[in-house]
Amino acid sequence: MNWYQLDVENVEQKLHVTANRGLNDRQVEKRRKQYGTNALEAQKKVPKWLIFLKQFQDFMVLVLLAATLVAGLLGEYIDAIAIMVIVLVNGCIGFFQEQKAEKSLDKLKELSAPMAHVLRNEKWSKIPSQHVVVGDVVRISSGDRIPADVRIVKSNSLETEESALTGESLPVMKHATAIRKDKLDAQDQVNMGFMGTLVTRGTGVGIVVGTGMNTVMGQIASLMGNTKKILTPLERKLSELGKILIVVALLLTALVVVLGVLQGHPVYTMFLAGVSLAVAAIPEGLPAIVTVALSLGVQRMIRKKAIVRKLSAVETLGCASVICSDKTGTMTENQMTVKELYLNEKQIYVTGDGYDIRGDYFIDKQKVDHTFPNMQSMLLYGMLCNQASLIVKKGKYFIDGDPTDGALLVAARKIGLTVSDEESYKVIKEFPFDSERKRMSVVLEDSNDRRFLVTKGAPDVLLPRSSFHMNESGRQLLKTTDQRNIEHAIDHMAAKALRTLAIAVKPLSKQDDLESSMLEKDLTFIGLYGMIDPPRKEVKKAIAECRNAGIKTVMITGDHVKTARAIAQSLDLLPNHGQVLEGYQINEMSDTELEDIIEDSYVFARVTPEHKLRIVHAFQEKGHVVAMTGDGVNDAPAIKASNIGVSMGMGGTDVTKEASSLILMDDNFATIKSAIQEGRNIYENIRKFIRYLLASNVGEILVMLFAMMLSLPLPLVPVQILWVNLVTDGLPAMALGLDKPEGNVMTRRPRSLQEGVFARGLGYKIISRGILIGIVTLIGFMTTYQNDPENLIYAQTIAFTTLVMAQLIHVFDCRSENSIFSRNPFENLYLVFAVLSSLLLLLIVIYWEPLQPVFHTTSLSIRDWMYIGVLSALPTVLFGFTKK
Ligand code: ATP
Repeated sequence: MNWYQLDVENVEQKLHVTANRGLNDRQVEKRRKQYGTNALEAQKKVPKWLIFLKQFQDFMVLVLLAATLVAGLLGEYIDAIAIMVIVLVNGCIGFFQEQKAEKSLDKLKELSAPMAHVLRNEKWSKIPSQHVVVGDVVRISSGDRIPADVRIVKSNSLETEESALTGESLPVMKHATAIRKDKLDAQDQVNMGFMGTLVTRGTGVGIVVGTGMNTVMGQIASLMGNTKKILTPLERKLSELGKILIVVALLLTALVVVLGVLQGHPVYTMFLAGVSLAVAAIPEGLPAIVTVALSLGVQRMIRKKAIVRKLSAVETLGCASVICSDKTGTMTENQMTVKELYLNEKQIYVTGDGYDIRGDYFIDKQKVDHTFPNMQSMLLYGMLCNQASLIVKKGKYFIDGDPTDGALLVAARKIGLTVSDEESYKVIKEFPFDSERKRMSVVLEDSNDRRFLVTKGAPDVLLPRSSFHMNESGRQLLKTTDQRNIEHAIDHMAAKALRTLAIAVKPLSKQDDLESSMLEKDLTFIGLYGMIDPPRKEVKKAIAECRNAGIKTVMITGDHVKTARAIAQSLDLLPNHGQVLEGYQINEMSDTELEDIIEDSYVFARVTPEHKLRIVHAFQEKGHVVAMTGDGVNDAPAIKASNIGVSMGMGGTDVTKEASSLILMDDNFATIKSAIQEGRNIYENIRKFIRYLLASNVGEILVMLFAMMLSLPLPLVPVQILWVNLVTDGLPAMALGLDKPEGNVMTRRPRSLQEGVFARGLGYKIISRGILIGIVTLIGFMTTYQNDPENLIYAQTIAFTTLVMAQLIHVFDCRSENSIFSRNPFENLYLVFAVLSSLLLLLIVIYWEPLQPVFHTTSLSIRDWMYIGVLSALPTVLFGFTKK
């Protein structure tokens, strides 16, 4: 069907819908069944059994399985079966971890899925784009990805960028009239909007004519490549490090085997022990555990209303040293209320709070009403040049649309204007607001066919475009003194942290060219609105916490410089020496000049999205890791360029969400702080379990190596080594990944992006603790063996238990960068539980008779335990008192 050739009415008829009503629930349900969801067919998923098998594809595990098979064939059934079971359980754990990580990532995808604005049952609402059906009426505006293929039925300067489809990156103007031509390519169908393309300007309404694979995008979807998993910097560093560790572990293991054989141990025994040791000591699972820790952290962040779109952001978050944040909506409530008007050179005060329409106007305590000259027309124009609507739910008033626009509706209602007052005006054309133009205009026609333009926007943008102004005697030429008076009034309002907005009109004739660049010139200035937008309560504290954590907060706003300064001061964001820069000043600076003063700048006012990009670059040049927020379509480049792009879940556009790595579900600055805190914590937790695992591995290898060097028998048998790898290294390490932050995570300076895995003394801690764990295990083994050389199993049980206990005690030391005594061991209940479970499993393999031959163990006495207790506490106690 060539939808572009049909008139809107025909489209409506064919799809059984009208553009001003939308579908009803029954139709939606039917169509959803008929056409399915509006999604491009998902890539084929790897089957679960393959993921399971992948757990065993590691080279050393294969060698171990082969060696076990040989052991089985040689008659060592018990050993063979025990090893097989351990390998199997290990594989299952890996499999479940992977599934869990995947599920939480899927949940993330769902949370950050694009939304569509649809008209159903005559009401506008936001739904996930994949629920859109054919016939749905959708509203699109700048920054949106079009949710499906639509036939445009209304366009207000609507422009889209279709390079994803056509390769053409210049925006295309869209209109609603039918095109009577045949065989048009997608790029020439200018009354159609295509799924996945981007709205770069304006607003529009369309009727969905194709969804899912039945869209132009669907036809080329098969050409799109598979998305490969991208490793985070830490995962990459760890997998590189892993390669080195594999070589080291293999060399040491080989040394153990060679020494053992030279000492006269049977080759086969040494080989199996060597392979087990290699499997245990090679931290092949480390990158996987890191992924699990990251994705668990991501789930915690979701609970704090931060959605991480890229796993790597979790790490980068902990490195952030500057947060550049929007003001409106992020630092403030975005709940605008008009508090003052400036009209006829007079200050008028408005009472009332929020969007409640109760309130009055006063001049010097004297009530004024709609009879006050120009008042009615100013407030009416504010209603007409407006894209929001005021809705009442259960007696409470809400705004659908831009809060700035909403405040004007409420202000108009306070003198008794209603929707019916708008109805005698016809909107001929609309130029929507964008933060680059900082204004919005409409061309209107009244019931007498008279045309005029209403423009509202930033006062310093409208004033230079005005040649006249209104006062009690009517329209006057705008003289320099009038201009100065108005500027004075703007300053006065802004100094009180009020957001200022000017409104102006211009009479037009029917012949006037509505596309002309002169249209918004020679305006008649009517008055000013001053509205408050209170700062969010929690922001001041969050800024202070960031400062303590070595993170600078910078406010970036399109608002007036004085308003910005007043709000920054009320939030304690602007120190005494701090600079406030304006967009025009940035224009006059070279990049190096900007870099020179950037460290001292805290507020950037009247900026456009292009300035944001320069600000990000300047901070980065100074070595900062920058988090940058944005919501509008033009913010995407700055968000992309920053180290951590932050977009808004409620007020943000699809494009900024796509460009960002963090989405704030509540649009709140304080959430960025929580995310950074969580990011730092996750990184520290990862360091904790790397420290724990590697120190344990060092201990395991060393005890074997030392024993061979001292011509002793094997202190640990293969199943014991594998058991340690599974139980002692498994559960507690996972629990460390869930540890609570140390008290000082938000008082430290941000970590450097370049920081290596072993930075800040981690390498030393691993080696020193590892060596001691190896030594005490060896002492336990050696002394017992020398006392009773006939009873090797007894000595091995002592060694095994000492090793396990030393690790289970050491795990508590890993929780702190400082001393073990600086933390309450019962704070992390997962860890306590993990340690107790490991202990229980240890007791079972030692004391339960059926398992004794499997694990080559024997029962221990109280005296043995006391000896083991002293030995195994040594590594932790010796180092526990020091910070090193
Ligand atoms: P932020 O702090 O998030 O950058 P902002 O609201 O301060 O946002 P913009 O939205 O770019 O910045 O607004 C800049 C100026 O444009 C405002 O100070 C106001 O004067 C004017 N303005 C804002 N919203 C509208 C609107 N809906 N219609 C007309 N003018 C507007």
